[in-house]
Amino acid sequence: MTIRPFGRGRLTGAVDVVVVGAGHSGLAMSRQLSRLAIDHVVLEHGEVANSWRHERWDSLRLLTPNWQSRLPDYAYDGADLDGFMTMPEVVDFVTGYARFIAAPVRTGVRVSSVTASDDGYVVETDRGTWRCRSVVIASGAHGVANVPAFAEAVPCAVQTLTAKQYRNPDQLDDRGVLVVGASATGLQLADEIARSGREVTLCVGEHIRMLRTYRGLDIQRWLHTLGILDERWDTIDDIVRARRVPSPQLVGTPEHTTLDLNALTERGVRLVGRLAGIQDGRAQFSGSLANHCAMADLKLGRLLDTIDRWVAENPARLMSAVAGLRPADPTERFAATRLEASPPLTLDLAKGRIGTILWATGFRPDLRWLQVPVFDRKGRLRHDGGVVDAPGLYVLGLNFMRRRKSSFIHGAEDDVRDLGTHLATHLRQGVVPPARRAAG
Ligand SMILES: Cc1cc2nc3c(=O)[nH]c(=O)nc-3n(C[C@H](O)[C@H](O)[C@H](O)COP(=O)(O)OP(=O)(O)OC[C@H]3O[C@@H](n4cnc5c(N)ncnc54)[C@H](O)[C@@H]3O)c2cc1C
Repeated sequence: MTIRPFGRGRLTGAVDVVVVGAGHSGLAMSRQLSRLAIDHVVLEHGEVANSWRHERWDSLRLLTPNWQSRLPDYAYDGADLDGFMTMPEVVDFVTGYARFIAAPVRTGVRVSSVTASDDGYVVETDRGTWRCRSVVIASGAHGVANVPAFAEAVPCAVQTLTAKQYRNPDQLDDRGVLVVGASATGLQLADEIARSGREVTLCVGEHIRMLRTYRGLDIQRWLHTLGILDERWDTIDDIVRARRVPSPQLVGTPEHTTLDLNALTERGVRLVGRLAGIQDGRAQFSGSLANHCAMADLKLGRLLDTIDRWVAENPARLMSAVAGLRPADPTERFAATRLEASPPLTLDLAKGRIGTILWATGFRPDLRWLQVPVFDRKGRLRHDGGVVDAPGLYVLGLNFMRRRKSSFIHGAEDDVRDLGTHLATHLRQGVVPPARRAAG
């Protein structure tokens, strides 16, 4: 790597690879590039593990157990393998990794544009310019909160917050809260706010119902053992749809609690349909609540059937794969989601009962700095399992990017191994067509 001072406090450099972002994905790729002896730098606009430090609510814990907190050559080494990390613990884990691998991270450097050049890419930052042959986008899947356009019609007496802006209930006035979105984030926030004594209404659209434990084991252990988390993007019929599936309704707590819509109803949360629009100060909810819940119940039932079948067919593998489970453990079933007979279809936001609308409606990557023609009509990055549709350009950490586990911490290891191999070939040969199975 060559680095020269470039004016006051500015740098300019030439390097084989620029990795954008020092979250766990960028660091895992850095480890892989070091193993392959590929010259690289990791540019990070904040600090290492920036999004875990600054973009999550206070009480959040990982919903993946500690045994799943692992990165290439590094893993959780505490005593509580089945516990769930708090945010300070995640920050320690990721910063410990950066130290352990001696990653060449430059913090406080924001990438403002990446453009193609004759021999690779030009990376402009607020601290100077880098030239490189390859760029790895590891800037995160949660850059921008998805807020529907009709949010503009929210009456001005109602405050709105995204899940990225929410920290704890002290930010809210005493009035009711409308939480929009019933995936992991929406459920956790609805639960916390209801516990704070506020009235909560939860808008429920398509969702993935999940149990925390089944037949005595954490659900993540089952998904891992059955190979579901390892499913590859190129074996899925409709990968575009699979990538849009919301996160499962899971929470990580010391008590290993299952947090589902029934638990929220018991806590006093009112369930309504998907928020479809806001007109004349009234929120309008879709009438599909019962259908969405029936579908989620059905899919959970199918998952549990799959687990039961696997248990019946694999008694020997079970004993070795899942220490401690006796195959004779009885199967459990769950109560269907309970709903009011006629959930309300509208809610008057102007009447003053609702003080806050909390958008828990998902996120999308913030790639405004990527000035290479690699986006489709809907503004989504065109990539094939992380190999972006431009030579030498790669992405990490997106939902179901290369495997079902790609967006999770433990998903980075397999993805960076595959994409690192592809990238090394690109550097050796110049251009590698984004062949589906070229890298793994
Ligand atoms: C609420 C929530 C809960 C989650 N819970 C879990 C969980 O329980 N288990 C699990 O495995 N995963 C979980 N995830 C998913 C995932 O592991 C995290 O989103 C993780 O932070 C993604 O890591 P990453 O390295 O891909 O991106 P990030 O951690 O977001 O890192 C990207 C980095 O890029 C930097 N960056 C962005 N733009 C630029 C730029 N232009 N120039 C320079 N730097 C830039 C950012 O500052 C950031 O540090 C959760 C995600 C969310 C949002």
